Amino acid sequence: MRPSILYPLFSSIDSIKGIGAKYQKLIKNLCGDKIIDILFHLPYNVVDRTYTSPLSNAINNKIWTGVVTITEHVPPQTKKHPYRVYCTDGTSELELIFFKVYKDSIEKNYPQGEKRAISGKLEYFNGRWQMSHPDFVVPENRLNDIMRLEPVYPLTAGITNKMMIKLAKDAILRTPNFIEWLSKDSFGDLEYISFNEAIKKVHNPKALNDLLPNSIARRRLAYDEILSNQLALALIRQKLKKQTGRVFKATNILYQKILTNLPFTLTKGQEEALEEITKDQEAPYKMLRLLQGDVGSGKTVVALLSMLKVIECGAQTALMAPTEILAKQHYETICNLCKDIDVNIALLTGKLRPKQKKEIYDKLKDGKIDILIGTHALFTEQVVFKDLGYVVIDEQHRFGVNQRLALSSKGKTCDVLVMTATPIPRSLLLTAYGDMDYSKISGLPIGRKPSKTVVMNVNKMPEVIEALKRKLEEGTRAYWVCPLVEESQKSDLAAATERFEMLKTHFGDKVALIHGKMKEQEKDAVMEEFKQGKKTLLVATTVIEVGVNVPEATIMIIEHAERFGLAQLHQLRGRIKRGYEEGVCMLMYSYPISNVSKERLNIMKQTEDGFFIAEKDLELRGGGEILGTRQSGFAEFKLADMQYHQDLLLRARDDVKHILQTDPNLETKQGEALKTLLYLFEQNEAVKTYLAG
Ligand code: ADP
Ligand code: MG
Repeated sequence: MRPSILYPLFSSIDSIKGIGAKYQKLIKNLCGDKIIDILFHLPYNVVDRTYTSPLSNAINNKIWTGVVTITEHVPPQTKKHPYRVYCTDGTSELELIFFKVYKDSIEKNYPQGEKRAISGKLEYFNGRWQMSHPDFVVPENRLNDIMRLEPVYPLTAGITNKMMIKLAKDAILRTPNFIEWLSKDSFGDLEYISFNEAIKKVHNPKALNDLLPNSIARRRLAYDEILSNQLALALIRQKLKKQTGRVFKATNILYQKILTNLPFTLTKGQEEALEEITKDQEAPYKMLRLLQGDVGSGKTVVALLSMLKVIECGAQTALMAPTEILAKQHYETICNLCKDIDVNIALLTGKLRPKQKKEIYDKLKDGKIDILIGTHALFTEQVVFKDLGYVVIDEQHRFGVNQRLALSSKGKTCDVLVMTATPIPRSLLLTAYGDMDYSKISGLPIGRKPSKTVVMNVNKMPEVIEALKRKLEEGTRAYWVCPLVEESQKSDLAAATERFEMLKTHFGDKVALIHGKMKEQEKDAVMEEFKQGKKTLLVATTVIEVGVNVPEATIMIIEHAERFGLAQLHQLRGRIKRGYEEGVCMLMYSYPISNVSKERLNIMKQTEDGFFIAEKDLELRGGGEILGTRQSGFAEFKLADMQYHQDLLLRARDDVKHILQTDPNLETKQGEALKTLLYLFEQNEAVKTYLAG
């Protein structure tokens, strides 16, 4: 249960005076509607209100703060004119201008003949100083209240910065004084600034520096968030590690048979990965391993071979793919590879008729299926294994963290291998999985020709189409990926449809269109036609299935390549590296193109190393955006920014190791404080499920 000390932070903002349902809704959309959401909604800039030079020698366009005497009110002659209030600071006259403001309120705020402290932007116009709609007007004696640095918050229509400042003040008042959860040793450069001090400091910046990611206050907050993330993951892992797993010591009879029948020899990378997996399988604890390998590195064979070892021991295995197309592709590949051995393989998809499903369920329960392949439908309640020993999850980044956890509960003691084709930078790996075991298949199978990448202006399209005509006639197949339009899926589709129609005039009925709005079955049908060569040019939005294998497809054209992220471009390019023929990837750009986009295209031209590209992507974009992380189940940070705080991540990992070595159940005083930290960053599951006691 959440510690009661945190209740005030997790209460709704409607408990703040002046926040009704209307504002609550706006703020909820902006940052969330709990007090803590306000606390973690940090300013990104400051307005300096310390400029007070006498008006007679003030500088134009400065934010000016000072005391003025109100001399005259001039109400507008017509509705179109502004209301004017004249005043002076004793050195020069100042004209205050108001549009659409009630006379009453102006007279109340700017009483004639009296002094007021005001602040706003000075503008020199027609030989005099003007200020429209001062940001502040208060009695003279409160000048010092406004004369300071004012934080500027990210806003939304209907919510003013003043409101956010007020809300933040309130949130800080409600923040309890926490017992320090960091040990003395782990402060490092953080200069013993506490969470409470840090949060106050970022909401009351004394200089713009206080807001920068590398300021001590920001680093302290980032560290707390990262620490909570690493601690939560480590707790999960600690528990899983302790779970006894089964020892799968294989006879290697099936394994050897398949291995010798393979039409190729394993690469060194594949062998190493298999060795590491085998070690896990033979060890008496539960395996949870991530297998990373670039597109085309041959993960499927590794998965199959490791599954055979478990099957030899009499247990069942499951292979989960993110889409039906991929599940089907795996099914075909694996059936083909296993045709000479006695292994029962089944494909479970949504398309099966109830009777067919039932048949599979029955066989599973009886232990008559050794390998079950499917999508996440594999883990619905009806699916009951007789003895599930091993689960392989392919193309994992499509699955969320929760699905991942649900999975391991299916087979209480079953081993899990997670495979991903997206090279993930080390730092993101850590935030997503903690210190998880992982293997990397480095390098591609021998004989794979590197693909060529060319970058060109979109005005070369006519030449591209001519060249494409020749290639397609020779039997090649090609993908044409259409502009990614940011605003909506619908305009994505419009652009792709338009390109499809245009290409039809060149290629007739050889062109097909595939997009995200199509039903799974329709997509399958189009992919099938493309695979079989009935269609040779596939126009697509970015839905081209990750991992779909069409060896004849060796050309990829990407329009508006400047709009794609590096990881995405790499993934797309991976589609044409599945055959043995050299692939060509054409990245077409149009203006305007930013420097970052140019840099991305250059990197694509220079290298095919996915891991290098992933690191570069992180560098260029920052962690939050990488791989479209929003859907990918990667941890999202509110206070930390992986572009700046990677060093903190490594530190937190080491800290956590040390903490759990000495206090595995967080029972010491510091441990208790750390539990509060976990709840503060809403790692509730980690405490509830993975802490003993
Ligand atoms: P991915 O890692 O992207 O899932 P796949 O497992 O689909 O890659 O393998 C891509 C292709 O490479 C398949 O056609 C597979 O048969 C082939 N392949 C796998 N391992 C090797 C190898 N060691 N040598 C040659 N070809 C291989
Ligand atoms: Mg694959």
